[in-house]
Amino acid sequence: QKTAPADQKVTPMMAQYIEIKTANPDSLLFYRMGDFYELFFEDAEIASQSLGITLTKRGKHQGDDIPMCGVPVHAADDYLQKLIAKGHRVSVCEQTEDPAEAKKRGSKSVVRRDVVRLVTPGTLTEERLLDAGTNNYLMALTRLKGGSLSGDAVFGLAWIDMSTGSFQLSETDQQRLAADLAQVSPRELILADSLLQESDLRLVAEQSGGSLSPVPRAFFDSSTASDRLAHYFGVKTLDGFGTFSRAELSAAAGILSYIERTQLGERPPLDPPMREAGAGRMLIDPATRANLELARTLSGERQGSLLATIDRTVTGGGSRLLASRLAGPLVNVDAIHHRHDSVAFFLTNEIKREGLRQTLKGAPDMARALSRIALNRGGPRDILSVAQGLAAARAVLDQTRNGDIPAEIAAARASLEQAPHELGTQLVAAIKEEPPLLKRDGGFVATGYNSDLDELRSLRDESRKVIAKLQAEYSEELGLRSLKIKHNNVLGWFIEAPTAQTEKLTADPARFIHRQTMAGAMRFTTTELADLESKIASAGERALAIELEIFDQLGQAIIETGDAIKAAAHGLSILDVSAALAKLAQEENYSRPVIDDSRAFEIKGGRHPVVELALRKTGGESFVANDANLGPDASEEIGHIWLITGPNMAGKSTFLRQNALIAVLAQMGSFVPALEAHIGVVDRLFSRVGAADDLARGRSTFMVEMVETAAILNQAGDRSLVILDEIGRGTATFDGLSIAWATIEHLHEVNKSRALFATHYHELTALSAKLDRLSNATVSVKEWNGDVIFLHEIVPGAADRSYGIQVAKLAGLPAMVVERSKQVLGQLEEQDRRSPAESLIDELPLFANITTKPPGGAADPAKPNPVSEALTELAPDDMTPREALEALYQLKTLQ
Ligand code: ADP
Repeated sequence: QKTAPADQKVTPMMAQYIEIKTANPDSLLFYRMGDFYELFFEDAEIASQSLGITLTKRGKHQGDDIPMCGVPVHAADDYLQKLIAKGHRVSVCEQTEDPAEAKKRGSKSVVRRDVVRLVTPGTLTEERLLDAGTNNYLMALTRLKGGSLSGDAVFGLAWIDMSTGSFQLSETDQQRLAADLAQVSPRELILADSLLQESDLRLVAEQSGGSLSPVPRAFFDSSTASDRLAHYFGVKTLDGFGTFSRAELSAAAGILSYIERTQLGERPPLDPPMREAGAGRMLIDPATRANLELARTLSGERQGSLLATIDRTVTGGGSRLLASRLAGPLVNVDAIHHRHDSVAFFLTNEIKREGLRQTLKGAPDMARALSRIALNRGGPRDILSVAQGLAAARAVLDQTRNGDIPAEIAAARASLEQAPHELGTQLVAAIKEEPPLLKRDGGFVATGYNSDLDELRSLRDESRKVIAKLQAEYSEELGLRSLKIKHNNVLGWFIEAPTAQTEKLTADPARFIHRQTMAGAMRFTTTELADLESKIASAGERALAIELEIFDQLGQAIIETGDAIKAAAHGLSILDVSAALAKLAQEENYSRPVIDDSRAFEIKGGRHPVVELALRKTGGESFVANDANLGPDASEEIGHIWLITGPNMAGKSTFLRQNALIAVLAQMGSFVPALEAHIGVVDRLFSRVGAADDLARGRSTFMVEMVETAAILNQAGDRSLVILDEIGRGTATFDGLSIAWATIEHLHEVNKSRALFATHYHELTALSAKLDRLSNATVSVKEWNGDVIFLHEIVPGAADRSYGIQVAKLAGLPAMVVERSKQVLGQLEEQDRRSPAESLIDELPLFANITTKPPGGAADPAKPNPVSEALTELAPDDMTPREALEALYQLKTLQ
């Protein structure tokens, strides 16, 4: 029988470590040892690499060195932040008993330890781990097969910001799913591992940008979901919260199971779940959201996004509310009006607004402090934050009194009035002005708050004075000037004198009890000193106990009024956002848009907020405002399409985007960068602008473009706004032109959306003759000495020429190439005159008549069409320009 060599014996500590690690396999284990969290084995290797800290070793396991690294407890937050940012999850394992207790059990026994928390990206609450202005959403996604009336699958979504307690639910379908995920933009997305196996769903989940956490299917069990929910909130039935669908309940159950698993015993204080009707928001699909750079630029930064450009909020809560409003613009006209009323209020009441902003600037993040307190992770500063937040709430109430207060502001004020103000006053009195971060060592309760505490503290301070006196007495009595009374953690208080001068002390060992001999000094104590010492120590201990008790009481009082505090925090955020949007409107000359249920889209003097700011910063030319009108004429009910031609760099994309942004801003409740705007609510916003290869998914630029265009043509309706930039650019001329041509016809005939379409295919301008709701517009350009000057002004009509060569010249193409291009262009134009694209109009029957069956319409078998058949035959990539031209002639002959 083999016996393990000595070094293969597993130490009791290592045995404990391995047991805990085995129970928590998919995270890095922070194993508490004294003042450090230690990591071992592979965890240590990963952490030392991710954190750039030294990898050491400790003992051996099965004959091999055990790799180890550690982080000091006091700096653990910083390290956690780095690890989480890199996508790791961390289990925090604490000592759950006093080491002295373990010793009592025997010299070999290890301190009991247990994992107290699993830290994941979506479950953070620490101030230092969070971005003040960004919500930190944990989201759960679940699917119910055949959940809808039509038998299609439905999806349930639940999302929670643990740092503030908000809890929302919604139900959605396959088509909206990606857009709904993008609206919330979760930091972490949990879903059943079986769903992650499906590649389509996995793609959508990955697109959400959150880190994916697969969990067992059982988390989402919908049959027990409502019981689990009721249990969490300590209610008998969920009726008081509203009605929820099965998919919503299943998602809610999934997210609560996950929280229970990660928080181990602590219950984050969550609001009752709120249903968020996805249909109450403007649908913005992920591509559109990214292309329009609403919250982040295409390169992923906040700077340069629309959000960063318009954000004038002064609190973290306000900034988060603004971001979530921008992410989900409303479609309900009344709700939008309410928000505009609030902005208008603070625009006219400038003094109220500035006073309010001044107060809010100093107000701490009450909602997040509250969550930390309720999770037992709070410190004295969190109590102070609640105290100061409530004080700010009172000040704000005074500052917004009187006047014609609009509904939203009135509701916010009502929540401030109902805040627990008495508690607030008590908290202010209880906590020192600059308390320590941790409650551990005490020293945070203000003087005058508790008389017992004050007495003990003065006893402690008094005793220190008595010690000073004692030192003076001893040194006088013994004639020893160098005698000192000192303190250290090992001996406590002691008398110290240089060895050479201790005769008198050693001569009286009954009084001066020897404690320690040092290199040049000796240490003693006396009964007098020992008495004093125990007095000081017990006063200190008792004082600390009182402080901790006060902390618990205050914390409890805060938790009990948590709902009112949260409501007040939300009220402050609403006021902050409204005042900030008013400030923005004033500083940037925004105006109040008219919003109704029509199909209007009339913008006068519209601007692109981000480009305008960029131009101002560089101090060059100023932004040229432009009009847009896509609304129906008096006799119609359907909106129009504008086809915009013009040279590159003229400002087409800017114009397209600015109109989309104006719609988003108007419906999120902001005023808009325009002189006037009248917008019939946009229910879905689609854009296909710019083009970036999505190589990670193996899609070429052209493929991405076509996928996005397909989504638009399949989903856009008569309330939608569609922005299409340079469709067909990614392929050969004829392909591209044909696709663009057919796309416009489809938008006009089938989708009936309001649309802006920018193109470099001049041929398309001919379509306006056929499509009565299509108008041509162009960007005006001046030519001067053969150079081109962009006026950035959108005017009716078609661009007369392309100016590509002039732009190429501006870009520094060699003069020889520019000249040669001009020659070639002349030739091509000459040939084109003989067969203008306009003639295609008469030769191509209108799109709707040939191929399509409008959704819901009778199934019309598509007639074979010779032109489209011929088009299918063409392989433009293999053609020379001349062959292409010939093919065009050929097409002309086909009837
Ligand atoms: P296009 O899409 O026609 O190629 P862009 O919209 O990308 O052109 O505009 C090119 C540049 O022209 C922008 O980066 C901006 O600096 C400037 N520009 C665009 N529109 C305006 C405008 N309305 N006023 C002033 N400058 C503008």
